[in-house]
Amino acid sequence: MTKILVVGEHDGKQLNPSVAKVLNCVSGFQAEQTDVLLMFAEPVQQIIQAAADIEGVSRVLTVKAPEFENPLGASVVALLSAMVDEYSHVLVANTTYGKDFMPRLAALKGVTQISDLMRVESPYIFDRPTYAGNAIVTIEAPSDQLLCATVRCASYSAVGKSAQPAPVEPLEVSVEFPTHTRFIERQAGSSDRPDLSSSKTVVSGGRGVGSSENFKVIYNFADIIGAAVGASRAAVDAGYVPNEMQVGQTGKIIAPDLYFAVGISGAIQHLAGIKDAGTIVAINKDEEAPIFDIADLGLVGDLFTVLPLLEEEIKK
Ligand SMILES: Cc1cc2nc3c(=O)[nH]c(=O)nc-3n(C[C@H](O)[C@H](O)[C@H](O)COP(=O)(O)OP(=O)(O)OC[C@H]3O[C@@H](n4cnc5c(N)ncnc54)[C@H](O)[C@@H]3O)c2cc1C
Repeated sequence: MTKILVVGEHDGKQLNPSVAKVLNCVSGFQAEQTDVLLMFAEPVQQIIQAAADIEGVSRVLTVKAPEFENPLGASVVALLSAMVDEYSHVLVANTTYGKDFMPRLAALKGVTQISDLMRVESPYIFDRPTYAGNAIVTIEAPSDQLLCATVRCASYSAVGKSAQPAPVEPLEVSVEFPTHTRFIERQAGSSDRPDLSSSKTVVSGGRGVGSSENFKVIYNFADIIGAAVGASRAAVDAGYVPNEMQVGQTGKIIAPDLYFAVGISGAIQHLAGIKDAGTIVAINKDEEAPIFDIADLGLVGDLFTVLPLLEEEIKK
């Protein structure tokens, strides 16, 4: 019997949009039951309702414990390992949160973790990217053990709302939480701009931008078109922008409808992060830059000339 547990991420205010994308992936499993697990220090009705409204959810399970005020991988796994034995699959989005705890769970249960599911052929046969997204491999997982997997959200759109909300069941689970790992503080970049992972439009700057001061041209242009701002690893490594803005194999994997690559050459590790983007626009002064091979629209020119011209046209 295919019985799936989806671990639902939230920030204490809202359900993460990735949960509805994981449910889209789950629809390919033809599962008999799909539960969404939400962990809280204090349950938040709005989050529970949002999960119950997602199409394909059989039950929303809630667990309350002080440890989930700031959930750490070690605490999440302590809970999961106490409750997953009745499930055939445990799935989570390939966000930082999911990638943090899923390998721990797999190790504790003595099973293999499967990363970045991007197509489901059957409950144990999947496609996933390899070689920085340059090849897609079809894999078969053992069907006689728990399957722990992360879902490549950029490959899935969110499922819609269910006509009938799923029932909500608070769970009483007795768990001994670990004390060797504890939460100290959270340091997060704050920005009024749209979220890079989920924005429909993204403007990324690369080494060609030249400095953190020059990055103002990228921010200005992004603000005019209401876009999130990303960057190449070279721009991050040079200290132009913080690490959380990196797009690519070792950064964020995104799927905006419209992506601007400005002063970015188009290395495969960068392209791995924008494989599922809709329209890619490249602005580069080198007409031989590899980014033009994959761009839908290319502008050969100096970004400091081209961006102000584009802004003028857009403002008109
Ligand atoms: C294991 C591994 C993982 C990696 N992960 C990532 C990753 O996640 N993300 C990532 O991005 N990279 C990653 N990289 C690095 C990657 O290989 C490239 O080095 C990097 O993407 C290059 O960044 P860039 O295009 O900004 O810089 P460059 O390759 O230096 O390109 C700069 C571009 O700007 C253009 N330019 C310069 N001045 C101007 C101007 N005034 N106007 C217009 N264009 C201009 C140039 O013509 C050039 O094409 C990884 C590498 C490795 C080995």
